[in-house]
Amino acid sequence: MEQLLRNFFLFLSKNRFFTKLAKRYGLRFGAGRFVAGETVPAAVETIKELNGQGMSVTIDHLGEFIDSEKEAREAADGCIEAIKAIAENELDSQLSLKLTSMGLDISDELVIENMRRILDVAEEKDVFVTIDMEDHERCGKTLDIFKTLRADYEHIGTVLQSYLYRTVEDIQELDQYNPNLRLVKGAYKESPKVAFPDKKDVDENLKKMIKMHLMNGNYTAVASHDDAIIEYTKELVKDKGISKDQFEFQMLYGIRVDRQKELVEEGYKMRVYVPYGNDWYGYFMRRLAERPANVAFVLKGVFGK
Ligand SMILES: Cc1cc2nc3c(=O)[nH]c(=O)nc-3n(C[C@H](O)[C@H](O)[C@H](O)COP(=O)(O)OP(=O)(O)OC[C@H]3O[C@@H](n4cnc5c(N)ncnc54)[C@H](O)[C@@H]3O)c2cc1C
Repeated sequence: MEQLLRNFFLFLSKNRFFTKLAKRYGLRFGAGRFVAGETVPAAVETIKELNGQGMSVTIDHLGEFIDSEKEAREAADGCIEAIKAIAENELDSQLSLKLTSMGLDISDELVIENMRRILDVAEEKDVFVTIDMEDHERCGKTLDIFKTLRADYEHIGTVLQSYLYRTVEDIQELDQYNPNLRLVKGAYKESPKVAFPDKKDVDENLKKMIKMHLMNGNYTAVASHDDAIIEYTKELVKDKGISKDQFEFQMLYGIRVDRQKELVEEGYKMRVYVPYGNDWYGYFMRRLAERPANVAFVLKGVFGK
């Protein structure tokens, strides 16, 4: 039943009609628990609150399916606005974005142009930018664009997903760039041809990736709500004498908030991924897919009040 619900929400997450509808009608159905608001000022308030609790942030200007160059340029403008707001308000925050929102499905040239505009400002304002990883179909292209940009910019990192068979090779290949990587399990519905179908393998592969990337001497963001992964990382860094400056934990806004606070109290760097913007629908559906138990919460949002 849980698997069925998971597939159902992942299927819904790709629906362009609902995406457009959601943009038009604003944050609904309890999405506010996972999304910090629709505007930069709303996001700034959330970042201030989290910084006040000792947490770092990465702010995500929500956006995926883009149909035109104009929309992609507007999304890039939105990212630049967010970077400027981070700098002006002296916030402890990075920026995350998705290449599809920069025009990945339109042309590579458009994405590179948009990314260079963003990264020029990011370097000037000293704000780090992470390229989120999307579905497998776009993984190779995303990594190629990352490599091109990494040749010219310091303030850029990306994400690797442990459910993909290819990822261990990607970690080895990327090592020459000394990349700052966020390591995750992966949030999209993928075929067993390209991704481990068994959760146990996904978990083991994430541990392997964390070890490889840390032992290569690279900065590692361990982005997981899974206690087993968190404990594994703590043991590993203790065992290998890896400094707390070389890694951080990351979790999503609104998920396992108590655990986030505990990690800060234990002296670990904790970064919260804070999404904002009107394109919240796909992100929200993927969070429901991860934990169908949240559906009860959503139903309360729809039928409560
Ligand atoms: C900061 C951050 C950035 C990410 N960026 C990307 C990205 O760029 N690309 C990508 O594909 N994926 C990304 N993800 C999502 C990731 O791939 C997983 O889908 C997601 O983190 C769930 O996996 P998990 O490691 O938390 O463990 P799971 O095995 O899914 O869960 C472990 C435990 O965590 C708790 N938990 C997990 N999810 C929830 C929830 N929604 N509500 C309440 N409790 C929950 C439960 O107790 C669960 O038993 C990101 C995740 C984080 C935290």
